[in-house]
Amino acid sequence: MSILRVIAVTDFEPTQARMAFPCFDEPLFKANFSIKIRRESKHIALSNMPKVKTIELEGGLLEDHFEATVKMSTYLVAYIVCDFNSVSGTTSSGVKVSIYASPDKWNQTHYALDVSLKLFDFYENYFDINYPLPKLDLVAIPDFETGAMENWGLITYRETSLLFDPKTSSASDKLWVTKVIAHELAHQWFGNLVTMEWWNDIWLNEGFATYMELISINATYPELQFDDSFLNVCFEAIAKDSLNSSRPISNPAETPTQIQEMFDAVSYNKGACILNMLKDFLSEKKFQEGIIHYLRKFSYRNAKNDDLWGSLSNSCLEGDFTSDGFCYSNSKMTSNTVSFLGKNTEIKEMMTTWTLQKGIPLVVVKQEGRSLRLHQERFLKGVFREDPEWRALQERYLWHIPLTYSMNSSNAIHRHILKSKTDTLELPEKTNWLKFNVDSNGYYIVHYEGHGWDHLISQLNQNHTFLRPKDRIGLIHDVFQLVSAGILTLDKALELTRYLPRETNYPALLKGLGHLELFYHMMYRRNISDVTENLKHYLLRYFKPMIDKQSWSDQGSIWDKLLRSALLKLACDLNHPPCIQKAAELFSQWKESSGKLNIPTDVLKIVYSVGAQTTGGWNYLLEQYGQSVSGAEKNKILYALSTSKHQEKLAKLIKLGMEGKVIKTQDFAALLHAIARNPMGQHLAWNFVRENWTYLLKKFDLGSFVMRMIISGTTSHFSSKDELQEVKLFFESLKAQGSHLDIFQIVLETITNNIKWLEKNLNTLRSWLLVNI
Ligand SMILES: [Zn+2]
Repeated sequence: MSILRVIAVTDFEPTQARMAFPCFDEPLFKANFSIKIRRESKHIALSNMPKVKTIELEGGLLEDHFEATVKMSTYLVAYIVCDFNSVSGTTSSGVKVSIYASPDKWNQTHYALDVSLKLFDFYENYFDINYPLPKLDLVAIPDFETGAMENWGLITYRETSLLFDPKTSSASDKLWVTKVIAHELAHQWFGNLVTMEWWNDIWLNEGFATYMELISINATYPELQFDDSFLNVCFEAIAKDSLNSSRPISNPAETPTQIQEMFDAVSYNKGACILNMLKDFLSEKKFQEGIIHYLRKFSYRNAKNDDLWGSLSNSCLEGDFTSDGFCYSNSKMTSNTVSFLGKNTEIKEMMTTWTLQKGIPLVVVKQEGRSLRLHQERFLKGVFREDPEWRALQERYLWHIPLTYSMNSSNAIHRHILKSKTDTLELPEKTNWLKFNVDSNGYYIVHYEGHGWDHLISQLNQNHTFLRPKDRIGLIHDVFQLVSAGILTLDKALELTRYLPRETNYPALLKGLGHLELFYHMMYRRNISDVTENLKHYLLRYFKPMIDKQSWSDQGSIWDKLLRSALLKLACDLNHPPCIQKAAELFSQWKESSGKLNIPTDVLKIVYSVGAQTTGGWNYLLEQYGQSVSGAEKNKILYALSTSKHQEKLAKLIKLGMEGKVIKTQDFAALLHAIARNPMGQHLAWNFVRENWTYLLKKFDLGSFVMRMIISGTTSHFSSKDELQEVKLFFESLKAQGSHLDIFQIVLETITNNIKWLEKNLNTLRSWLLVNI
């Protein structure tokens, strides 16, 4: 028999503190908070600061008094009443770090404790500023709308963002937990110690915290090879930012709905990517000095964009001695060094072209002997140069682009800032090919005019290792973007991927396969059966040796594991008989052992998904879902359940999601998204959203991440004119009721682009496959 236990927990960002206590609920109004909580003796109470005393009240209630907080914004206040257990450790500087989880999940907290202690030490060192509170708690909340929340001293997490269960958590789950902990710890400085003046600059919190994931994990967990994952952070940003419906990083936001909409890929991902580009431009050391300067200067205060650019251009600290344009510093970072006071205006001028302008530039390169002609324009997916609206959409866009390039003749990295529409460069020597955007550190897309792409493609075919791994990933990414913008034809991009079966760098291989897989799902969903079949044959023919090499185990490096998961998932999705057979075998062994058998975690999702295809298997999985105490396992089971071909089973999942008991409310958006990805469920999920809009609005805020995910997750894969019309009509009816979100325009533009992509490329894909299978 299960017992219902209740937890009380706050979550205030951005505008909810005002609902808990009277306050000037804006980030600029910082204050010290003294908190007292009354509770029953079977519970504990937690808040930002440590407890100083407990008083027993008449009637048996206990009253906990907490130390007054440091000066901070209202949205960071937090308190919890619960019956959780914890594990604790102490950082090098003596701060007590504890991980809390509900008693049955306590044994999944140990990885989080290791990670937090290690990252905590790293950040104190890197920022050269000690964490100012005496303790830090990280708490796993059983039903939590977002991924995590950085409340100062009391960080709250969704269970899957904090807990790690060696039996059911896969390599990508581990990567995720490490990443979220790194993100929230970075906020203790970026956001909590120094806060943006207003929500229009939320990227100063989120872009930085996302970027610090890269810096901190690379330094503390090099075996996770996080910089290869970071490229996807930027690719995700580019996917949104190459639509006309994108927005600038700094954007006016007034109402609570508009403020919530600011928490998107532009603030998080693009913010992080332009910081990475700036670090590459300034050098690691100069960048670090700049942010130390920024954090020191604005501690317990608020900042805006210009303050950051000021600090990064001039890394002298207050109190430093300056003379003749040089800065003599006593701080740890710059001790015994002298740094040059860079020109303030140059960095600011450059960076405002990235923060105040929306979109991403396309750099067009044409090589003529030793001369290079450069040209920049705004990169737009789905709007072609020959379209009448193209010209107007280009007007007034200009970036200061810190270009980097390398040539086949040497390993040297060359640099040039492109500040005008066009420019010419003289190369130091003649070269067969050039590759711009070295290591994909820059936030721009590159097109090589003339024979530029052909030379690169033939280099990949002859010996791909002449190009750096991240440059290969960048080429694969850019070539497909250029197809979406109508600048290259699809067969050119497909030609480039021909070298992939020889690719030894797994992130590059996965990037290329990802595109081909995307086309497969698009064709399957639209029921274009001849192309679906041929693509399947193509993929299985060229990648079979690699698929067959994969073991059903948990061995190897992180990328061995990620590759294994991806390749075996692809093979089973394509109905490759040996894959289905092996997965079915493991599933029945697992079932016979009453769920006790340990299946390798990296193939767990695949095994469950194959098992979910029979009614017996599906029912058994649903039963196990209710019993599992591992969030990582539950996610895998729920995904597997959502791949069923039976509509009544999918409808049952939606019903359970609405009830919020067996399937928790926190998982409802991901569930709808997963069902919509299933060709058998796409219209079910979409009709559900249309018919239950009012119900959804009662459950979730209009501008929340969840609502936006529900809207885009159930519509943005559509690719026919009828579907576009349906979605358009639905959005118009919502607008008539007074609901308006930016995501409406993003979705409509995405569907229009899908339609255009098919019109332009379907026949090319069809005939290319006929020649190549
Ligand atoms: Zn964050």
